[in-house]
Amino acid sequence: MLAAVYHGPNDIRLEERPIPNIDADEALLRVTAAGICGTDLRILHGHHRLYPPGTQRIPGHEIVGDIAAVGDGVAGLSVGQRVIVAPNAGCGHCHLCIRGDNNLCRQYQAIGVTMDGGFAEYMRIPAPMISQGNVIPTDAAADAAVSTLIEPFACVLRGQRTLQVGPGDIVLIVGAGPMGLLHLLLARLSGASRIIVSEVQPVRLVQARQGRADFAVNPQSQDLREIVMDESNGRGADVIVIAAPSHSAQQSALELAAVGGRINYFGGLPKNRPLIESDSNAIHYKELRVTGTTGCSTGDCRKAAEILEAGRIDLSPLVSHRFPLTEVLAAYETAQSQEALKTILLP
Ligand SMILES: [Zn+2]
Ligand SMILES: [Zn+2]
Repeated sequence: MLAAVYHGPNDIRLEERPIPNIDADEALLRVTAAGICGTDLRILHGHHRLYPPGTQRIPGHEIVGDIAAVGDGVAGLSVGQRVIVAPNAGCGHCHLCIRGDNNLCRQYQAIGVTMDGGFAEYMRIPAPMISQGNVIPTDAAADAAVSTLIEPFACVLRGQRTLQVGPGDIVLIVGAGPMGLLHLLLARLSGASRIIVSEVQPVRLVQARQGRADFAVNPQSQDLREIVMDESNGRGADVIVIAAPSHSAQQSALELAAVGGRINYFGGLPKNRPLIESDSNAIHYKELRVTGTTGCSTGDCRKAAEILEAGRIDLSPLVSHRFPLTEVLAAYETAQSQEALKTILLP
């Protein structure tokens, strides 16, 4: 089979590899679509801590495919079934796994991160993924490229669960990359009355407007604070999502938030510079709830798949580019450009 294999920083090679063997408690997936995301770009550049020097691995964790073979010991899966594979598995028995936060497990394993992923024609589905419910049947008639968005959408769902967006809320989203736009769509679905998106890249501002942001603001040339205050009758934003690695956005969120506001630091900061200066009195006197989320659990993926299946949200505008696996290098290049929203490989 054809596979895109990481060999080192900026060294992804297209290779012929044997189709993976499966054990009795595993299954084989014929990959139909796999999304390239920010994590994959971090891996490509050699900045991912779970891809240490010397690692040779197939990336790809936003995966849709058809079951191609099932081990004798596996119940509930059948050949030909269309599924998505939620990428994260925990140990299955620690307190975090038991309460459903397997993405936070200390012995966390992930497809495309700690084990071979979906940038290949076939992928082995390891036993824990099957026993922990990561294999989620999905609509075979749906566009597989769009179904790859279930995983990033699940991360956004997790992020907004802590924020409890509801009817009438004024929502500020900082960053209009694919994650920011998914936040925009979900906030709209939850009944937000005004959504303001802040973004410095002109192309992404246009995309935010196309995604029906009420205001798409460039904070370098416009006064974001004034716009937030105008649109909220002076009270500030009820909900703020920071989907960009920005120190200043994390700091100013405390000021831009309304009394009782909810904030999510959805994007991390560079690991060598994670400190910010923050006005803790703003948190105290405004009774702010400052939260953070990272990745998604298998439960989040299941919920995201249900929402998509119910037709409650249309994620198809986010798929901007599609490439066959043979053009994986061009696909990576496109995924790095500001114009691209989601770039999808179709093995
Ligand atoms: Zn991802
Ligand atoms: Zn665990």
